[in-house]
Amino acid sequence: MSTPSPMARRITAVRAHALNVPNRIEAAGKVRETDLSVVICEIETDDGLIGHGFTAITEEQTVATAIREVAAPALLGADPLTREALWDRLCWLMAPRGQTGYAMHAIAAVDIALWDLAGKILGLPVWKLLGGARDRVPLYATCGFGFLDRDDLATTARDWVEAGFTRLKMTVAGEALRRRDATPLEEVIAEDVARVAAVREAVGPGPRLYVDANCNLDPVHALRLAQRLVPLDVDFFEEPIQRNDIGAMADMRARCPLPLAAGQNEGQSFRFRDLLAGRAVDVLQPNVTIGGGFTQAARVAGMAEAFAVPIANGGGWPFHNAHLHAGLANGGLVEWHVPAVAVCRMLFTDLPEPEAGTLALTDRPGLGFDLNHDAIAELANRPSAAGHGKG
Ligand SMILES: [Mg+2]
Repeated sequence: MSTPSPMARRITAVRAHALNVPNRIEAAGKVRETDLSVVICEIETDDGLIGHGFTAITEEQTVATAIREVAAPALLGADPLTREALWDRLCWLMAPRGQTGYAMHAIAAVDIALWDLAGKILGLPVWKLLGGARDRVPLYATCGFGFLDRDDLATTARDWVEAGFTRLKMTVAGEALRRRDATPLEEVIAEDVARVAAVREAVGPGPRLYVDANCNLDPVHALRLAQRLVPLDVDFFEEPIQRNDIGAMADMRARCPLPLAAGQNEGQSFRFRDLLAGRAVDVLQPNVTIGGGFTQAARVAGMAEAFAVPIANGGGWPFHNAHLHAGLANGGLVEWHVPAVAVCRMLFTDLPEPEAGTLALTDRPGLGFDLNHDAIAELANRPSAAGHGKG
């Protein structure tokens, strides 16, 4: 364990806020109200600087407790700039046998807070600490949701193209594998084909389309759906198969030319290695808020570069992930996930606005945006929800 030099700053406090955030999606005149679970981590130093980190698509109380009771004691007194040492310490403490899951969410939130803090100490934005490859990232809008019918989807897609977004993602497969009704999967995917066709017809041949099954299909129906989406010029099919089964995705890639994407909820680097080495993906999707923060996402991006596989953001949280994709030479698309953006606008201040389907990074130190402490205090009293938001 490294000992801080006498001049080094020390970590004096680690806080975690478990939040169940109400979310209201409006599209084509329809409203859908949901909740999204997130955790905000704050790390404070002896000179009063505070870095903030974030994780989501998890159980917020579990992860916040892991940060407070397991990670915090290992961080107190440490030099906050020793990010590699602290990441390694937490990984051996919380996931010593390669476990993925809640621990990696906790480490992601801590790691992002340490990068925000490093930026504030050094006077640099995170994207420049990572390498400063570009100061603007391309966005794709995730705006095609299950509660919209075909006409709503077409209207929504046209609205987004008019707003300058020429890359659009929609969900498919609903919650097919965990459905409660008796609809055969064949009917579910037939409707998906009709929904994507309605969007393609609405926007014409130019805009790029992506679909995301959120791991809700078995291999045979995922392949059937992919084959029928090929004529609709879909650029990638995200998380097509349950549990992101690497062998099944590799088999699907060999049998259908529709590019596959996955990785948003992977926690450990070896899972990304296996996705790459198993030739299971065309686009790799590390998410800094889930897969071990910037420290591990940068390592994963390096692996992807060696395999000549592009990376893109899946799982949303664009304001954090934009730093990764701006910082690294092989950075790619960032997901303008409509519900996630709405949640961020409640929790943070000074967020950048998109322009013509892109997001500009600023030179403000760290992440470049701050916590809305009043909103966080108010939301902290809101009860936890059963289940959690999906990216
Ligand atoms: Mg996704």
